Amino acid sequence: MERELLKPEEIERVLVVVAHPDDAEYGLSVAVNNFTAAGKEVGYLLLTAGEAGICDMEPAKTKTLRADEQRSACAEVGVEHLTILNFPDGEMEYGLEVRKAVAKEIREFKPDTVAVINFEFRASWGINHIDHRITGEAVVDAIRDTDNPWTHRDLSEQPWKADRLLISGSANPTHRLLVSEDDIQAGVRSPEQHKVYLEALPDHPKPADFIPAMVEGEGAEKYLSLQVVNM
Ligand SMILES: [Zn+2]
Repeated sequence: MERELLKPEEIERVLVVVAHPDDAEYGLSVAVNNFTAAGKEVGYLLLTAGEAGICDMEPAKTKTLRADEQRSACAEVGVEHLTILNFPDGEMEYGLEVRKAVAKEIREFKPDTVAVINFEFRASWGINHIDHRITGEAVVDAIRDTDNPWTHRDLSEQPWKADRLLISGSANPTHRLLVSEDDIQAGVRSPEQHKVYLEALPDHPKPADFIPAMVEGEGAEKYLSLQVVNM
């Protein structure tokens, strides 16, 4: 099926919500660079600090290190707004607390578009991480809840309606985004900032290999596939 062209002019403010440092750097950051290069505002919300991500490093040290690496990854794609919450890495549980945390950030940041990574049970690389699955579901529910003044009444922020959800890495993409060579190169540099994290995973594919492979097309006509859900 021919994928519809995503019209960036319909997008002004994007909130990226992911579970861990580095989650947005597997293709989504190519789109993020495309948006920020066009002057759009993009913010990141990470629900965990990724403290359980490096087996031979103490979580407290990993947490600080990964926040620094994430700040550098964000800088490569023009993102300054970064919020990292403290849900437990690898031990997230679905519930009102996580939904409310996402709703609060949506009400504060006021995005028209919220972006997530694939949160199906299966991912292209195998069985998806429980934190990714919980995060995606919580985002869908939070987008709906934030519009309703009678939900999360203990939050001081006002209700907000986000219009669309972008899903990167979806098995069912509906749209394609025209991206530039600069977007692709920024999309390679952003995961490379997770230096110590990737060094601890010697078998992990290299960003210079897997990022360009996620983009389809030739020459000036290169496209990143995304699933778009109107909310
Ligand atoms: Zn992750």
